[in-house]
Amino acid sequence: MDVKKTVCMWCHNHCKVEVHVRDGRLEKIEGDKTHLAAPLLARVVKSCPRAGAAAEWFHHPERLNYPLKRAGEKGEGKWDRISWEQALDEISERLRKVRDEYGAEALAFTRGTYRNPREFTARFFNLFGSPNVIGGAGNVCWAPANVIACALMGSPANQPLIVPGKTRSILFIGTNPAQSKTKFWLNTLDSIRQGAKLIVVDPRRTQAAERADKFLQLRPGTDTALLMSMIEVIIREELYDKEFVSRWCHGFDELRKRAKEYPPDRVERITLVPAEDIVEASRIFATQKPATCYSHMGIEQLTNGIQALHARFILPAITGNLDITGGQFFHGFLPLMSEVDMEMQEALSSEQRGKMLRSPEQIFSWKAYELIQENVKRVWSGSLPANPHCHAHGPITYRAMLTGKPYPVRAAITMAANPLITQANTKMVYRGLKSLDLYVVMDFFMTPSAQIADYVLPAASWLERSHLGPEFEVPYLEAGEAAFSAADEGDNDRRTDYDFWRGLGLRLGQEEYWPWKDIEAAYDHRLAPMGYTLKQFITETGGSLRINPEEKKYEQRGFGTPTGKVELYSTILEKLGFDPLPNYEEPPESPVSTPELAKEYPLILITGGRFLPMYHSEWRQVDSFRRLHPDPVMQIHPQKAAELGIEDGDWVWIETVRGRVRQKSQYFAGISPGVVHAEHGWWFPELPGEEPWLHGMWESNINVVTDDAPEHCNKMSGGWPLRAELCKVYRVKTYV
Ligand code: SF4
Repeated sequence: MDVKKTVCMWCHNHCKVEVHVRDGRLEKIEGDKTHLAAPLLARVVKSCPRAGAAAEWFHHPERLNYPLKRAGEKGEGKWDRISWEQALDEISERLRKVRDEYGAEALAFTRGTYRNPREFTARFFNLFGSPNVIGGAGNVCWAPANVIACALMGSPANQPLIVPGKTRSILFIGTNPAQSKTKFWLNTLDSIRQGAKLIVVDPRRTQAAERADKFLQLRPGTDTALLMSMIEVIIREELYDKEFVSRWCHGFDELRKRAKEYPPDRVERITLVPAEDIVEASRIFATQKPATCYSHMGIEQLTNGIQALHARFILPAITGNLDITGGQFFHGFLPLMSEVDMEMQEALSSEQRGKMLRSPEQIFSWKAYELIQENVKRVWSGSLPANPHCHAHGPITYRAMLTGKPYPVRAAITMAANPLITQANTKMVYRGLKSLDLYVVMDFFMTPSAQIADYVLPAASWLERSHLGPEFEVPYLEAGEAAFSAADEGDNDRRTDYDFWRGLGLRLGQEEYWPWKDIEAAYDHRLAPMGYTLKQFITETGGSLRINPEEKKYEQRGFGTPTGKVELYSTILEKLGFDPLPNYEEPPESPVSTPELAKEYPLILITGGRFLPMYHSEWRQVDSFRRLHPDPVMQIHPQKAAELGIEDGDWVWIETVRGRVRQKSQYFAGISPGVVHAEHGWWFPELPGEEPWLHGMWESNINVVTDDAPEHCNKMSGGWPLRAELCKVYRVKTYV
């Protein structure tokens, strides 16, 4: 038996694990027994269905093993097996042609959630000369919170670091960690057992809401109003931390004035949350300290999401909960050659930066990045990587592919992503990608997106490559070794994304910038300023190093913002031309903003809530998971379902102005009668891959009906509204 220590990248818990390998087969995965958080890791990994199905995934007969080249028409499902050398030669030649004919900006990149190294992608793109790395899911997942936290506080701060026995109150907004963040969830349950209070803001009575002392079930999309009302109560009742506010906060008087616009009785009418519940939740959060707050996609995927995030960060700040154990801890940046150095941002000229397909003032623009970065750098030894905090806007880029406006985008590379399933407005994404001169996908399995590519390349998974990176949301730098080599796994030629970018770089005149022959050598280089090689780091630290562990680091450093304080009133947002304080706006589609539309489409559709055992659009080909969760599910209140003649378990059409898809109804009394929730990420690997099937992508994929119209996206971030759109639902007729 061989036991290899590494980091599981199958979800954003990023567990430090031990992989047990016997005779070339993956036997089991366990939590790392030598990690500082070993007892917690043991529980997380033991309860994780994905870790339990690791061998089924890893040795799956449908894994991609060799590079494939399209043999027939796009989407015809005909492929030739080719060598990596041929693939890299041909792709680089075609990229050169695109660059010569249309300019470097005609190449785009789209990724999924962050589970592979970002810095090598950025290095290739900066050297190639294209600013059009699309944030992909990042535009509406994690990156908004990170960027807005950096703008307001000079550090990423979405990591609650719930400490059982220490944390006294926890506020979850638009997140259900029971399905998505097991580490946080187990710590939350332990904290509750030790007397902590839990407040949950969500339109659905989730597992987290079931355990809450206060559950604020709001109308979808109204989070900013609710959070501003909590701020109003805390200020009016003088529950804020006066000393911290006067010493460390900028713009409190302006905030006080703005908050007055959100008294609980007015906000009750907006959110449908009783005013007394808002008051009570505010009192709990402000008085039970340390208090911590965690928000996620539930608010990041709103048109008003950045404003909600702004308010969400104000709450722990004015209550004096920043950078304390059990509160809103800052882990700052890594003390090693940072991702920024590896990215080679300097290689991208200002002329090319100016061509990034995004509104130039938004928080993910180069202008915003530079404003944030100069302050972050002043305070921390490391810096905010540009990728993905500065990236092209997906909806604008897909439109540029299709229309050639504002300039042509003619080639794209997708890595570890399935944009036909995971990006809003599938029809637009499909037409955009299908129109390209060159489309390359690198992934683990065939997907609907890969089916319309020109080249499909087999990726090495986290089990087959080394790892180095920050633990996602707690302060550890972690490293791991490959548990398998291609040779162990038999006859395949899967490669790392590093190999891919370097392979292209060597063929496109970037030779001098890729001196490291493999990913281990590149990580050795990154660790050199800390005096380690990758191997030494793993041996000497066990592969985990706690970074920036001190509390209240701001007392020595100040905050990495223009004023050196927490900017309740954001001078950076003001400079970018946005409202410097949070303000509520109705969703672009709602019974209030579009009452005429609501007559035809009377229900509010939420999409994107996470559900185990799946992870976004992944794991659909794992049989044991499909037996557990065979079909896509739409939650509906039983009373509303009865009104509509829908039985529990009926297939129903979910229709918006953009089209319709079908999912199976599930009665759920924890959702308001005016709201439905549809699962995301659905496609069916068992259905044919060729067009028109594309693995059943048009059947139940909720993004066929979601909205990505640039005018409906968040004006500060470009985020599209997945959590509050209008729809109607009705039974699918069946004839027997
Ligand atoms: S919780 Fe996520 S990171 Fe941890 S073992 Fe399971 S899939 Fe891997």
